[in-house]
Amino acid sequence: MLDIQHVTFRYKKQNILEDINFSVKTGEHVSIIGESGSGKSTLLKLLYGTYDLNKGHIYWKDEEILGPKFNLITGPDYMKYVAQEFDLMPVISVSENIGAFLSNFYPEEKQERIKELLEVVELTPFSKTKVKELSGGQKQRVALARAIAKQPEVILLDEPFSHIDNFKKQSLRRNLFKYLKKKNITCIVATHDKDDVLSYSDKMIVLHDAKIIANNTPQYLYNNPENKLVASFFGEFNEIDGEMVYANQLKVVEKSDVIAVVKQSYYKGHYFLIEAEWNEEKVFFEHPEKLNLNQKVNLLIKK
Ligand code: ADP
Ligand code: MG
Repeated sequence: MLDIQHVTFRYKKQNILEDINFSVKTGEHVSIIGESGSGKSTLLKLLYGTYDLNKGHIYWKDEEILGPKFNLITGPDYMKYVAQEFDLMPVISVSENIGAFLSNFYPEEKQERIKELLEVVELTPFSKTKVKELSGGQKQRVALARAIAKQPEVILLDEPFSHIDNFKKQSLRRNLFKYLKKKNITCIVATHDKDDVLSYSDKMIVLHDAKIIANNTPQYLYNNPENKLVASFFGEFNEIDGEMVYANQLKVVEKSDVIAVVKQSYYKGHYFLIEAEWNEEKVFFEHPEKLNLNQKVNLLIKK
């Protein structure tokens, strides 16, 4: 189990993280969310032992993860970290990059393993291509494959699909998270994307103002978004009488006391997102059809 106890960290004067506490069980998947600059990347770097903590401790099982003051080489060998800026070897091939840390004593096993990893990240056709000839998204996939090559016990992923296009993202996400679960690899992902979280994370941690403001299952936090930050992560929402109401929970009905005036319809594929005005405030709701400007609608919350 990964155990984070009373961690405080600052680069300069201001605390970036303050008294952070949480734990992650072996094989569990946890996502770290929060606005840009909230300290997600910093937290992953601390878990990897990149910096010395100002306060607190981090343990994996019974071993303390220590920063550079106490440790010459950054990163314990049971852990892999895939940074937002991945560093690969540009002039050698995809396969060679993926296999860079695999032993040459077992050439057949090594080739088998590389083949399996190429399939996980869907790069089999590019196995012989030099990394410098790849797109940003393809490079990110090589970095992911290389990180899981030696089957770490813990993997830290910083926005792992940020460079990957939507065509590939869905299947890559399924492949990678399925693979990590199958191998019981503990996984911590910093992300902006609810699709990384909803189907794949056991727990979701929300960072704000240097603190953890929520730590629960994605299902729980989706159903009980206590504040705007959590609600906005999941989608368009309204704050009605201090309660967070998602746009899809506000329905047009025959009769109600809430009469709103339509201002805009946004096409979203299988529905329209409607922006309307009620009591001089904006309300958002989902509707199967486009609605006309200044049309009046009766709204009701239906959870
Ligand atoms: P996130 O990943 O959530 O966007 P970061 O962890 O990258 O946030 O950054 C958190 C805060 O720490 C930001 O205010 C950022 O400017 C600052 N920061 C990040 N890296 C450094 C650094 N190496 N030196 C000084 N400040 C930093
Ligand atoms: Mg970041």
